[in-house]
Amino acid sequence: MPDPNGFLRYDRRLPARRPVAVRISDWREVYPPAGEELIREQATRCMDCGIPFCHDGCPLGNRIPDWNDLVRTGTWDAAVESLHATNNFPEFTGRLCPAPCEAACVLGLGGQQPVTIKQVEVEIADAAVARGGLNPRPVPAPTGRSVAVVGSGPAGLAAAQQLARAGHAVTVYERDDAIGGLLRYGIPDFKLEKQHIDRRLAQLAAEGVQFRTGVNIGVDVTAEELRSRHDAVLLACGALQGRDTPETPGRQLRGVHQAMTHLVAANRVVAAAGDGRPAQAVLPDGTPIDAAGRHVVIIGGGDTAADCLGVAHRQGAAGVHQLDLYPEPPHGRDAERDPWPTWPWVLRNYPAHEEGGERVFAVAVQEFVDDGTGQVKGVRIAEVTVERRDGRRIVTALPGSERELPADLVLLAIGFEGTEEQPLLAQFGVTRNARGAVDARPDWQTDADGVFVAGDMHRGASLIVWAIAEGRAAAAAIHSYLGGVGSLPAPVDPARQPLAAC
Ligand SMILES: Cc1cc2nc3c(=O)[nH]c(=O)nc-3n(C[C@H](O)[C@H](O)[C@H](O)COP(=O)(O)OP(=O)(O)OC[C@H]3O[C@@H](n4cnc5c(N)ncnc54)[C@H](O)[C@@H]3O)c2cc1C
Ligand code: SF4
Repeated sequence: MPDPNGFLRYDRRLPARRPVAVRISDWREVYPPAGEELIREQATRCMDCGIPFCHDGCPLGNRIPDWNDLVRTGTWDAAVESLHATNNFPEFTGRLCPAPCEAACVLGLGGQQPVTIKQVEVEIADAAVARGGLNPRPVPAPTGRSVAVVGSGPAGLAAAQQLARAGHAVTVYERDDAIGGLLRYGIPDFKLEKQHIDRRLAQLAAEGVQFRTGVNIGVDVTAEELRSRHDAVLLACGALQGRDTPETPGRQLRGVHQAMTHLVAANRVVAAAGDGRPAQAVLPDGTPIDAAGRHVVIIGGGDTAADCLGVAHRQGAAGVHQLDLYPEPPHGRDAERDPWPTWPWVLRNYPAHEEGGERVFAVAVQEFVDDGTGQVKGVRIAEVTVERRDGRRIVTALPGSERELPADLVLLAIGFEGTEEQPLLAQFGVTRNARGAVDARPDWQTDADGVFVAGDMHRGASLIVWAIAEGRAAAAAIHSYLGGVGSLPAPVDPARQPLAAC
């Protein structure tokens, strides 16, 4: 029986972030561990609601009130068990999820601050490691069936673990030199240190999952070869086609890059330093790309932009502007527009925003300005209004509002246009839809029989929690397709959408 007065006795509290001056001098995670006393206090705020709306916010169906109460009572082993029953990788979501469960927490309905669900989650996940490590689960007798998973992000890895635990032989193919998808070289270490991925991979390997890195399916191995080796294929190739702005004058200048180009180069340097290898942030063609001493302009307002901001500060940028097309969002939920328990449009302050830089809202780039040698030296911006007409976005510049910002490194973090057009698609006979994603039938199969799809490749650029949920659900469908005994958990179907106001 949970404490009925917990939320009355305790306010919401999170552990203090590491001081800005300290954390921007390294790449370690921003949050230190919360400590047992704080986390048990915060778990006590959970009311164990009769209808726990936090469940509706989370596509994984995490048993949030159950593990909140287990943490409250210090029953850590049971909390670890309960958490892993629905989530293969709580150490990733606990660190990185924007927590739609918290936006849907019933405490928010009464004007209270929600339970710190995500912080409780990460503390349980870390307790699992501290209390003996991530032990591999015993694997049943082999079924004799084999599955290829293409792409090693959270969707592919979640599916791989579920299928291996059901006795299937699973091989994960990854074109990059390391496993992890965007978690490995997209998301910086100050949000997710990579030992968390490595620990999990050791568990998956011990459970029988085979990993093949440096294999580009569709190029190094054809779809036909892959299908001849395996009984089913899961495509989990992400949504890595960065949106560009080719029509903006000066886009071709040196120093104007896709955000991911910068992030991947920077994250590779951190990875190399961890291995004791010297490295410099470079583009694939060897050109250095580093924010040190540069005036940086980041275009975009989401996760990717915030990650670029944190990286720019750690590299020693001279100054950073972050530009957003839209006006500054409200600081609290607008109940008319986004009623509880939906995900609210509010100003999101990431830890990177605490570290410096200037955010500029309601502006659009008119031109990237040439220094006369083909290198960008500035960004000419104008104040704008944005409206929707007939489903189209109309951006109107206010006359006389133009000004120039200094810029010798410009990063485009303006979203993704779905999965990349690559040889694998035609070889498997699957096509991208109007959003650049690959459609799935209700049983997660694509247009090609025996070829399934999950994660960002199916949903479009989304969240880790959705990737894991889709990976688990696709694994359940593959298990059934292969005639596996019993059924695996399927937390979502392909049509499931986040909570939205009617
Ligand atoms: C910079 C950035 C920051 C983000 N931060 C957050 C965050 O804080 N919280 C959050 O919840 N979400 C965040 N996201 C979103 C999240 O990372 C994605 O939703 C998630 O990683 C999608 O998982 P996935 O498994 O579908 O694909 P991905 O993680 O994209 O993995 C796809 C993998 O497929 C591989 N691949 C593609 N084609 C082939 C091929 N032909 N052969 C072999 N391998 C192939 C790719 O190399 C890649 O490794 C962020 C995204 C970005 C870009
Ligand atoms: S909605 Fe909030 S208070 Fe209710 S069970 Fe979920 S976490 Fe606890």
